[in-house]
Amino acid sequence: MNWLNGKHQTTNTFLLYFCALWKVATGIAVSISLLSATLVWSQPVPGSLDVHWNEGASDCKATPQPPLQVHAYEPQTFILRQNPCASFEANFLYLLVGSDKALLIDTGAVEDPKEMPLAKTILELLPDKDHKKLPLLVAHTHRHMDHRAGDPQFASLPSVEIVPIDLEGVKAFFRFTNWPNEIAHLDLGGRTVDVIPTPGHNATHVAFYDSRTGILFSGDFLLPGRLLIEDAGAYRESSLRVVDFLKTRPLTHILGAHIELNIAGRAYQFGSHYHPNEHRLELAREDLTALPAAFEKFNGFYARHPNYILTNPTRNLVALAIIAVAVLILIVWAVRRLLRRRRQRG
Ligand SMILES: [Zn+2]
Ligand SMILES: [Zn+2]
Repeated sequence: MNWLNGKHQTTNTFLLYFCALWKVATGIAVSISLLSATLVWSQPVPGSLDVHWNEGASDCKATPQPPLQVHAYEPQTFILRQNPCASFEANFLYLLVGSDKALLIDTGAVEDPKEMPLAKTILELLPDKDHKKLPLLVAHTHRHMDHRAGDPQFASLPSVEIVPIDLEGVKAFFRFTNWPNEIAHLDLGGRTVDVIPTPGHNATHVAFYDSRTGILFSGDFLLPGRLLIEDAGAYRESSLRVVDFLKTRPLTHILGAHIELNIAGRAYQFGSHYHPNEHRLELAREDLTALPAAFEKFNGFYARHPNYILTNPTRNLVALAIIAVAVLILIVWAVRRLLRRRRQRG
């Protein structure tokens, strides 16, 4: 009996050990499979930026241009470029297609559908769902007119929702309760887009991070051109916020709303309809991570960096006005002195 009890005990202990080992082994297996599934899920869908953007013309009347260029980065992500001849702003707009809805980031600088058939083009790109066009959300990186002039083209379309342009409207729509220290999320169906407050260029500015492609759509916050500063403190905070947010996430490209530099890094003249030898559209993580330090060293007026220029247009204008007034005072003083001398000689 004792022997039997002993054998029973040994068998029970063995079974207990076996069960425990089995549980640990299955636990590890489940964790590994979940981890690998997450890794697979978090791998961005690859896309192509092998495209030559339409550069406008030195004489737009002599060489008529198609108003809008459409490039499929991948089957569910489209980049649209407004021709520099249609508007010197030559905005880039982005269409992101999910399984439940699509997101259009910015509507560009041209309102007239005859000059810029934006809504028509977007509707053609939208897939059908339940025998209808996929619902569309129109959002903006910020309220400047060159990012929302095309809004009226979408106003009367069915299944289209337009995010308001004022700060209160933006906060309410994305349900921000702690602006700008909070990230909002949009679910397009199988595709999450994070909305990151990025005030500094403009108080309403947001950037969009797309989980599917790993692209940051940065609007006027970061682009190969002039970073026009309205509030340097807020801009620096925004750059830190974006750097921090992307620290643990894959980042394939940073795509802004304009190209204002050529490949040599020189800015086109403001208002130019011709962009020969354009700088590439996409910026990289290094350009973003260099931004907070660039703001720390910023002299408040103008600073050149390899792929962008920091500039405060209001301050530069005030400085120019002060210089102009000083020069004017100097001229008046010199003329009066000259006249007085002549009178004394006479
Ligand atoms: Zn702007
Ligand atoms: Zn802009």
